[in-house]
Amino acid sequence: MALSSYVLHFFYRFKVLLLVTLCLMVLWATLSYIVDSGQAIPKAKSVVENFRKVTSLEEEEDSQKTTKSTVKVPTVQSSQGHCPALSPYLRGASKLTFKASLTLEEVEKENPQVAKGRYHPTECSALQHVAILIPHRNRERHLLYLLEHLHPFLQRQQLDYGIYVIHQRFFPSFPQAGSTKFNRAKLLNVGYLEAMKEENWDCFIFHDVDLVPENDFNIYMCDTQPKHLVVGRNNTGYRLRYQGYFGGVTALTREQFSKVNGFSNSYWGWGGEDDDLRIRVEMQKMRVMRPSPDVARYTMIFHTRDQGNEENGERMKLLRQVSRMWKTDGLNSCSYKLLSVEHNPLYINITVDFSMQPKIS
Ligand code: BGC
Repeated sequence: MALSSYVLHFFYRFKVLLLVTLCLMVLWATLSYIVDSGQAIPKAKSVVENFRKVTSLEEEEDSQKTTKSTVKVPTVQSSQGHCPALSPYLRGASKLTFKASLTLEEVEKENPQVAKGRYHPTECSALQHVAILIPHRNRERHLLYLLEHLHPFLQRQQLDYGIYVIHQRFFPSFPQAGSTKFNRAKLLNVGYLEAMKEENWDCFIFHDVDLVPENDFNIYMCDTQPKHLVVGRNNTGYRLRYQGYFGGVTALTREQFSKVNGFSNSYWGWGGEDDDLRIRVEMQKMRVMRPSPDVARYTMIFHTRDQGNEENGERMKLLRQVSRMWKTDGLNSCSYKLLSVEHNPLYINITVDFSMQPKIS
């Protein structure tokens, strides 16, 4: 009897001990959870606060100088990992202004982190190395406005980028010294070939000099398919010009562009070369992608048609020949005389002479 009461008593004490141990374990787990989340909250808070600091800093600046679009990207030295897929510095739509008295020196001052036309984020490693190619001839003012807006825009997107301006030398008083006609597509081929001598760029943005992006969510990075970035622009009521339109600003990877043998070199004067590129893209079973229309918006700086860039009357004929010509007319047949490559603070200036007369086959 004494033995059985002793055993019962023992079991009773064992149960109490077990209960106490369980209670202690629950208490310990709860305490460690509270301590952990207590540490995580300040971390999250500091990320949000850093981001707020950036936006409020920019808002403050914006209210002081409404015409400025400089980006003050803070240098976060701690992480050297990849930049995020969506930069925290994006602002969305902005109303663009173009100051008549703007000078190149002012734009240089606004972009102290750009050197020799190039920039890379210091807070993280950019997802793509992007070359922006801008063909032009006698459009200095447009170039200035584009540089003014594009540099901060690209910095806000945390890109490692270089801006190449490809300038076709024009001799108006000596037409025999060079072709009098502008050749946008061939200049872009030159830009690609010359830029590739400097760096193995991942992505190329083929950019008209008179189109300024309005929304920095229109990301200047390449995708799995060639991208057309101009869905709408102010002078067309922000509507796509036509379904197959592939002009203005396009983004192709190094591989996509070389796969189609680049642009045709045969389009002298205005029009057709962008349609030709789209046909090349489609022939390679690639598909043109576009960002959403509310983001892919541009302001076109007004101008009249330039001398030497008259409508190309041959373009329809050329467009019918793409399937026959693309393999031999393009990057692999782009001949030109390189006059100079200058590394200016805000862009790399490539000047070429296409002195042969336009040849139309
Ligand atoms: C031309 C293109 C041009 C488009 C929009 C077409 O007729 O062939 O080169 O981009 O019109 O203006």
